[in-house]
Amino acid sequence: MSEQPYLGTLFVVSAPSGAGKTSLVSQALERDPALTVSVSHTTRPARPGEQDGVNYHFVTEQEFLSLMEAGTFLEHAQVFDNYYGTSGDWVDEQLAAGLDVILEIDWQGAQQIRRLRPHAVSVFIVPPSPEALRERLQGRGQDSDEVIERRLREAAEECRHVAEYDYLVVNDDFERALDELLVVFRAQRQCLSRQSQRHETLLRALSLADQ
Ligand code: 5GP
Repeated sequence: MSEQPYLGTLFVVSAPSGAGKTSLVSQALERDPALTVSVSHTTRPARPGEQDGVNYHFVTEQEFLSLMEAGTFLEHAQVFDNYYGTSGDWVDEQLAAGLDVILEIDWQGAQQIRRLRPHAVSVFIVPPSPEALRERLQGRGQDSDEVIERRLREAAEECRHVAEYDYLVVNDDFERALDELLVVFRAQRQCLSRQSQRHETLLRALSLADQ
């Protein structure tokens, strides 16, 4: 078994836009205090209701590029004409503190994370049907028809990468999907590689019990 350098587990969660990923992740955080989510940097303008430092760190393209050159990002990608990136230092601090860190990122970022952090666990969330996806994108009321059509094309592109992920959650019924997601997060905590770090003393004591 190869060594896992951090106590926390790094999770990648991807989904086509409109699958309900952000709502599921935010509810998972409410229910499980051992989870935290990375706030990405993006050059995309804030949508109504989004707050800087909460949903994203909103930065200019120039700011993003200098952060990139400074090596700030663990992974970064261009999605829908905008740049997105994950702060590496922040992620490592959380993992070292024993928290499980969720990265809500696209398939391109997921590929980079798999290369850099082979212990990361990835989850793909899908809507129950293409119609549901379209309805959710329209219902959000935040994007123009043209943007919605484009997001549907991008959603199909995202879904083409589903086979690269470890787990699949179908967001048909929200509560059930949330439970399934939490099961994935919690199951990783029982992995022997992680448990043997946490319970090193216990395991040593048990193996010496007959002496
Ligand atoms: P949105 O603009 O709708 O919030 O996000 C668009 C896409 O960018 C989503 O697939 C989202 O997961 C992805 N995304 C958000 N933050 C990051 C990031 O830091 N890195 C990468 N690679 N993708 C991200």
